[in-house]
Amino acid sequence: MIDLHTHSNASDGTDTPGELINMAHAAGLTVLGLMDHDTVAGWQEAVQYLRPGLSLVLGSEISCETEDGISVHMLGALFDPEYKPLMDVLAKTRESRYGRMERIVGRLNDAGVEISMAEVYAQLSEGATLGRPHLADAMVLKGIVKNREEAFNLYLSNSSKFYVPHYAPTPVEAISLIKAAGGVAVIAHPLASLRGRIVSVESFKTMVEAGMDGIEVSHRDQTPEAQELLRGIVAEYGIIATGSSDYHGNGKLNQLAEFTTKPEAFEALEARADKRRVVRK
Ligand code: AMP
Ligand code: FE
Ligand code: FE
Ligand code: ZN
Repeated sequence: MIDLHTHSNASDGTDTPGELINMAHAAGLTVLGLMDHDTVAGWQEAVQYLRPGLSLVLGSEISCETEDGISVHMLGALFDPEYKPLMDVLAKTRESRYGRMERIVGRLNDAGVEISMAEVYAQLSEGATLGRPHLADAMVLKGIVKNREEAFNLYLSNSSKFYVPHYAPTPVEAISLIKAAGGVAVIAHPLASLRGRIVSVESFKTMVEAGMDGIEVSHRDQTPEAQELLRGIVAEYGIIATGSSDYHGNGKLNQLAEFTTKPEAFEALEARADKRRVVRK
């Protein structure tokens, strides 16, 4: 079983990287992808906990924004973490998430929702990428909402009046950086329409021309019709279809390995990186 897209508390997941590795072993996964938002901070601990039987694909889910302001998540995996231009962009994104959070909190305060930056920070693990889920957790603790889901539905979605974007590279920039760093690029849940505006089908051509290797097809936020459409695009461009859980610990309903990637697809993906970078013990 191959699950290429999961999160730890190095971003907005709730398990430590070590706990996530232990869970993957217990669940009988053969390959796990660690894809924390805009960071590689969880990599080292994940490698420490890895035991024989599980292969680890290290990566990051890179927050992107198109020229017309649509939010896109690009999974970058098997890249060289020493490649500075990519690390610089991730650092710039992480940095810009603080001012952005202050503005979201400010807008909520103006509307009479009492929540402070200190309460948000209290939900963030040391060194982790700050995101709206940490604000959601702070609101849960205060009893403003029941869970993250409700926080997003009522206050935090991309279409909410409280929403503020942060700096993010374009998808083409992110793909170029991932490829220059020797890795593989797979667009995450591109037709997850519940999250807000989605990219047009035409825009996939530009991303494939920039070097994109695959599309995350099987994902709980994409309808069977959307997945069918994506399979057509994958076939048209001769790229790779992946499937994954997007597990976030108890931050979301998504269960580890609820969707998976076929072994042939994973092998084709791994072969597209410039080196064998999958970690095995
Ligand atoms: P941000 O990175 O701050 O833009 O926040 C985006 C993150 O919020 C995504 O990576 C998801 O993990 C999380 N998220 C989005 N919608 C929901 C939802 N309805 N319930 C729980 N988490 C969500
Ligand atoms: Fe997330
Ligand atoms: Fe995502
Ligand atoms: Zn994700």
